[in-house]
Amino acid sequence: MLKPIVMLGSAGILVASTLGLSVPGSLGSNPLMLLKQLPEVDAEFNQAFCGEFLGNTNAMRVGFAVDPLKSDPEIQEFVANFLNGNESPETIELNTVFDTLQEQFPGAQYLAANLVSAVSRDELLAQLTSWDELAHPEFHDASTSVIKSGRRLVALSVLSRRIPEFTVEAANQGGGRFFNRCPHCNSVHALDLNRKSKTLILSCPDCERPYDVLAADAKGMMRRAKDFLTGFQVPGVGLIDASKDKKENILLIWKQVADRCTYEHDLSDFNESEVWKTSDDTWVQKQGDCEDTSILLVDSLISAGYEARVAIGWNGNIGQHAWVVVKIDGEQYVIESTIQDNPGLADLVPVKDASPFYRPEQLFDRQYLYFQNDSPDKVAMNYFADSAWKRIN
Ligand SMILES: [Zn+2]
Repeated sequence: MLKPIVMLGSAGILVASTLGLSVPGSLGSNPLMLLKQLPEVDAEFNQAFCGEFLGNTNAMRVGFAVDPLKSDPEIQEFVANFLNGNESPETIELNTVFDTLQEQFPGAQYLAANLVSAVSRDELLAQLTSWDELAHPEFHDASTSVIKSGRRLVALSVLSRRIPEFTVEAANQGGGRFFNRCPHCNSVHALDLNRKSKTLILSCPDCERPYDVLAADAKGMMRRAKDFLTGFQVPGVGLIDASKDKKENILLIWKQVADRCTYEHDLSDFNESEVWKTSDDTWVQKQGDCEDTSILLVDSLISAGYEARVAIGWNGNIGQHAWVVVKIDGEQYVIESTIQDNPGLADLVPVKDASPFYRPEQLFDRQYLYFQNDSPDKVAMNYFADSAWKRIN
């Protein structure tokens, strides 16, 4: 009885294939076989069997110029428990093995499994060793366990390769392949990090929704968008001055930023090859482009007690763009942070007037990233509604 199945990743990393080797056999159908004495199947047997299987496999892999397989102790334990915990091990569905494995080891993005049964140790080893997938270079580990079931020996073998979970720290130590769990639909998928892109919007291949925005800072280190807001405060401007009009207050802050920072015009305003600046860097360097000045202004507005967010998205005249949105007494205003020339009250544009041209796709403040949770028309009319924007920690 042979039941090999191959499953490679959940995000189309490699083409999945099912080997058509299923040979259903009735257990104990050969009366001669019943007379054979089965060995004692204990830990010692398992260790020796796995050692021999791995030895044979690696000798074959060397011949194909493929790196040898190791054992993955945690998956090894899983395989043994899975086999031992099953009442009829010879009928184990390999899809259940995959599902349970990926539940417990989300980084196991490359998997193949094989279930074989035989009436002798030699036959079991021969069946398992004839498995085509053993030569596959994408697998790094082999984990096998044997159990006695009635008058047959049953072996479950799993080939695997685990990839690390995505973190900004890991990404900064070098690109490569990571796994991640989508905060929208909870599915686990693999992602390849191409470090040539300085700005990354990570999206889920299953629900197709973006869930993270990362950019390289001036030193080339990746940060989450929100971490570019460093708690900057414009000198001389404290919390909202109750004696002043709130809009006038905002203008005071905006003018300081506009007067100090020269707008650095890129060919393309907001693009993937661009480095972002923290609010401190833009203030110190006295220049920045749309996302840099938006980050600085939002950080300064938050320090002054305002609810403000950086919006990235599409501007009908410019293309990919970044701007500011601020909330004053329930009213929301778009601020075009690239305006340099003495901004006035008329430059605080109510979102309903701005919405035909400013189409936000992601928002962020110091704490959170926000992703569209409603139609493009609705999100462009309300940058602060929980119903329109899904907050991600
Ligand atoms: Zn998703």
